[in-house]
Amino acid sequence: MKVLKFGGTSVGSADRIKKVAALISNGEAKVVVLSAMSGTTNSLVQIANYLFEKKNDLAAQLIEGLRSQYFDVVMELFTKEESQEIVKELINSHFDFLQGFTQDSFTIHEEKAVLAQGELISTALLHYYLKEQGISSCLLRALQFMRIDKDLEPDHFYIKENLNRLLNENEGEQLFITQGFICRNTYGEIDNLKRGGSDYTASLIGVALEANEVQIWTDIDGMHNNDPRVVDETNPIKQLSFDEAAELAYFGAKILHPSSILPAKNANIPVRLKSTLSPDSPGTLITKEADGRGVKAIAAKDGISAIKINSGRMLLAYGFLRKVFEIFELYTTPIDMITTSEVAVSVTVDDATQLSNIQQELEKYGAVEIDSGQTIICVVGDFIKKEKGMAADILDKFRNIPIRMISYGGSNHNISFLINTSDKELALKSLNELLSLIHI
Ligand code: ADP
Ligand code: ASP
Ligand code: MG
Repeated sequence: MKVLKFGGTSVGSADRIKKVAALISNGEAKVVVLSAMSGTTNSLVQIANYLFEKKNDLAAQLIEGLRSQYFDVVMELFTKEESQEIVKELINSHFDFLQGFTQDSFTIHEEKAVLAQGELISTALLHYYLKEQGISSCLLRALQFMRIDKDLEPDHFYIKENLNRLLNENEGEQLFITQGFICRNTYGEIDNLKRGGSDYTASLIGVALEANEVQIWTDIDGMHNNDPRVVDETNPIKQLSFDEAAELAYFGAKILHPSSILPAKNANIPVRLKSTLSPDSPGTLITKEADGRGVKAIAAKDGISAIKINSGRMLLAYGFLRKVFEIFELYTTPIDMITTSEVAVSVTVDDATQLSNIQQELEKYGAVEIDSGQTIICVVGDFIKKEKGMAADILDKFRNIPIRMISYGGSNHNISFLINTSDKELALKSLNELLSLIHI
């Protein structure tokens, strides 16, 4: 069994949906995970925002605009009048549901239901299109098997039990289609796996079904060795280890949801990144092994805040770091980077929502300084196998860039730098020269 996930651009038009149908209809057993058509989730977020702000007229306008865009897709995708009518009715049921919120109160629980509509529609479109083409497929409802627990972590046991039950109920079917991103929470309410979460859905399904491969199909031919949105000359990487891929995804390589690699790593399921725009390109294969060629890739994560706690003699007293970490735990804020000295400790966070509470608590232990507008530059590779001088080569590329923090040695495959976001482009471009020298 294989799991294939197609992102928003890959199902972004009638034409693209037809291409996906062609790619998946080869008779091999597979589960196909779809995102919403590109732009839809952003529009749904906007609709929810209008509803929160009680700008119900604007929400209603946006809902109708989206409804008519989907009608255009239906007319282009389906040729038989009968299927056009059935699918239009289905589209209407989703948009009438959304319109219902413009007449009623709106809370955070309803917001999740609004955001879920994109994936529900895209999967229905593909399923009915396959049907019109005479290709049998089974629509699996993610809300019947995908679930997160009270800590917002996937409930692996529930997912495995229910997914296998649904597959067994449809024995003999080879092609299963399901929604990425959406799930239920521990209270049974509609929830989601956070933006970009369809990749995560795919790896969770891969683990639950003990799949032999998870494929993430997107609009680029694999994980590139630098951020293609910032740097012109980037290249796809043929092979990455799970750890390298996880570091890149976590530190800004948008091609993968940050949580999507860990489940695959734990179950040792290869993950392949492929492009629907150039399906014959090899893409990137992510497996257990690293191929040990020095610097492999660079990624950048914006929106970081650095927090420095100056605590003099208290710092190296045992128990001090525990107290600091407990404050972050109390406010459920993960720490990304950490550096220490005799008199101070600096950490970074990407979630600033609880920062003022955290600051207040930390001030009990020393003077606290906060810098926002920071970016982590993450250099990934297999540094242990490389001859000496690697760190010096990398540092040299920061000759003209002020560095706020450096983290080296936490693992064998990552060196991270914290810099001002205004210096990001310069850093990525100057590190790219190093890549082209070292990376063949
Ligand atoms: P999808 O909608 O298919 O999930 P995403 O937009 O989430 O696609 O991810 C693909 C995009 O990720 C690419 O178009 C590219 O701009 C961006 N990206 C950022 N960093 C990288 C990288 N290192 N390698 C490849 N793509 C990257
Ligand atoms: N549709 C969701 C989003 O835009 C999930 C995904 O595309 O992975 O974030
Ligand atoms: Mg994505």
